[in-house]
Amino acid sequence: MAVRRKRRVRVKKLNLAIFVLTIVLITALVTKAVKSVYTLFTTKKEPEVVEKKEKKKETKNEEVKEPTTSFEQLSYYKDTNHNRYIRYQNANPDLPIETIVTYVNIGIDNPYYTYTNKAKYLNKTTILVNKYNYLTSDYVPKNLETIPLSYARSGMKLVNVAKDAYVEMAKAAEKQKMKLVVTSSYRDYEYQENIYNRYVKSDGKEAADTYSGRPGFSEHQTGLAVDLYNGKTVYTQFESTKEFDWMQENAHKYGFILRFPKDKENITGYQYESWHYRYVGEEIAEYIHEHNITYEEYYAQFLDK
Ligand SMILES: [Zn+2]
Repeated sequence: MAVRRKRRVRVKKLNLAIFVLTIVLITALVTKAVKSVYTLFTTKKEPEVVEKKEKKKETKNEEVKEPTTSFEQLSYYKDTNHNRYIRYQNANPDLPIETIVTYVNIGIDNPYYTYTNKAKYLNKTTILVNKYNYLTSDYVPKNLETIPLSYARSGMKLVNVAKDAYVEMAKAAEKQKMKLVVTSSYRDYEYQENIYNRYVKSDGKEAADTYSGRPGFSEHQTGLAVDLYNGKTVYTQFESTKEFDWMQENAHKYGFILRFPKDKENITGYQYESWHYRYVGEEIAEYIHEHNITYEEYYAQFLDK
C-alpha cells in the first residue's frame, strides 16, 4: 500500500508539473500572440494616421481654393446663364468669379454677332448697342437735335440730353482754350450699312469688324455717341492732342465716357478709339471713370435685369 501511495503521489506531482508547464507555455504563447497582434495593429495604424493627416491637409487646401462667393451670391447672377458660367470657368480657371459672371452676361463666351439680342432701353440714355445687342433698321431715336456749328461739323445730330451735355462740355473746354468739334454723331441704319460695306470692300470683313459696327450694331445709331477732334488734327490722332488729356480728366463730369478704351478690346469688341465718346449720364459716367471699367461691364452688373 505504502509503495502504491508513494507512486500515486509521484504521479500527482508529475501531473502538476505538466499542468504548470502547459500553463506557462500557453501564457507565453498567448503573450507572444498578443504582442505580435499588437505590433501588427500599431504598425498598421501609424500610416493610417499619417494618411488621415494628409487627407486633412488636402481638404484644407481644397477649402482655400473654393471661391468665397458662388455664382448665385452675385447680384447680377442670371439663372439662365448658369451652365455658361461653368463652361466659361472651366475654360478660364484663373478668372475671379465676378469676372466670369460679368463676361458671360455680356456675351463674351460666344463669338461676336452670333447670339444677338434686340437692344433694351430704347430712347433711354442707358441703352447698350454693341456686337451682341442691335437696333432694327427702322429705329430712329426720339428728340434728335442739331449740335451748334461752333462745336461740330454741319448737320451733326444728337439726342437732346446728350446734345445739351456736350455743348456744356465743349463750352467748359473752350474756357480752358481747348477746341472740341464733333466730326460724327447720329448715323442712321442706312448710312452705317453704306460705310460698313465700303470698309469690307477695301479691307475685308474681318478687319472691318474690328473698327466698324455692322449696320444695326453701331452705337452711332443711338444718337448718344460722338467722334471728336480738335478742329485741326485728324480725329484718329485725337490721343496726341491736349483736348484728349482734358477729356480724360473732365468728360465724366458731363456724363460722357471714353467708350472703347485701350486694352479693353476683348470686352468692347472694338480696338481702342481715343475719339469716340458716349453719353451715359453723369452718375454712370462717374462710376465708370472711378472704377476704370467699360460700359459693357457696368451694364452687365447694374442694368441688365
Ligand atoms: Zn464713333
